[in-house]
Amino acid sequence: MSLVHRQRAKDKWYLPGIFSGMGLTFRKMVKNLFNREQMPTLNYPEQKFDYSPRFKGNHVLTVKKDGSLRCTACMLCATNCPAECIRITAAEHEDPTVEKYPIAYEIDILRCVFCGFCEEACPVDAIRMGPEWQTPGVNGSEFVYDIRHLAFRPQLKGGIVSVVDEQERHKAGI
Ligand code: SF4
Ligand code: SF4
Repeated sequence: MSLVHRQRAKDKWYLPGIFSGMGLTFRKMVKNLFNREQMPTLNYPEQKFDYSPRFKGNHVLTVKKDGSLRCTACMLCATNCPAECIRITAAEHEDPTVEKYPIAYEIDILRCVFCGFCEEACPVDAIRMGPEWQTPGVNGSEFVYDIRHLAFRPQLKGGIVSVVDEQERHKAGI
């Protein structure tokens, strides 16, 4: 019987493959039990992976010192977004020195590819991508992040102040 025919005859029987797979799983389980520190997996959520500070995770809309949004609704981020997942509605501001601001800013995080183009395109450090990577939700609407989530979710502890705002204040000596 040729090698090919012998191989085909062996493949007709599932039990050797099943026992071989179970043996491999058992060997790995015993190895992991006695070398827990070398396990390649983490016990999430008790243990979390430490990503680099440069990791591009969930978006943050920064704020000015007074707590208002830094975003000027210039649309550069939405225009540069390859996934077309940013939707901004601009409005006139009461303050005549501020041309416009976003009354709505939404990111559909399920369509986002986390490329970072929005962050790169923004001229005033109004949008950043931070270290958070968890995107939990139980229905579709919870994956559309609005201003409340992007700028004022509890993890941000009142909001992240824009660097541009800080620099302008420093130049003005305020
Ligand atoms: S990270 Fe990329 S895909 Fe996601 S919102 Fe920004 S530009 Fe769009
Ligand atoms: S986040 Fe930046 S780029 Fe996007 S609309 Fe606001 S100011 Fe413009």
